Amino acid sequence: MDLLVTAKFIKEQRKEKGLTQAELAEKIAVSEKTISKWECGKGFPDTSLMLPLCEALDITANELLSGKKLNEKEYKASAETNLVELKDKTEKLSRFLLMIEWVLGYFVTFSFLVPVFLIVFVQMATWLKVVLYILGFVQVLIGLHFCMMIEKDVGFYECEHCHHKHIPSYKQMYAAMHMGRTRYMKCPKCGKKSWQKKVLK
Ligand SMILES: [Zn+2]
Repeated sequence: MDLLVTAKFIKEQRKEKGLTQAELAEKIAVSEKTISKWECGKGFPDTSLMLPLCEALDITANELLSGKKLNEKEYKASAETNLVELKDKTEKLSRFLLMIEWVLGYFVTFSFLVPVFLIVFVQMATWLKVVLYILGFVQVLIGLHFCMMIEKDVGFYECEHCHHKHIPSYKQMYAAMHMGRTRYMKCPKCGKKSWQKKVLK
């Protein structure tokens, strides 16, 4: 996948359809600026926009990723390459996101020590202590929820029994006992509970 080749292809296909950037933008509910960015190779439609864009331009996702119209033989060959490349990119992004989660998790947890430290060692009115404590607590809750958001959407959880991979709901995640990223949850396929590990593919 080459960003500039795809950018040129999007522009060509849009013109072939007789659409202006504004018209195409309206069709898939994004801003004109976004279309212009894609056509300059400064960005790439994220997965939720790929299919609407392809539909509007009358091309396949595979053609979009390849940056050209494909015949049947080319289609099959490039489908595999694109899939592998896309998987590779997704996996790299997943690892990066999980690292962010890890850093954020530690940062948020330790930063709670700041208000605690102030409350214990600095002379202040009781109401101020309460406010500080609540602020610290809210900060931890928000931070940990961000971590949870990352963890939920990156990769899958794998059932120990049937090896089915799934993405749990927030409710399930919050209710589950966990050790690091391994969570004790019910498998939606076999219905058994187990310690489910985070897997990226
Ligand atoms: Zn299972």
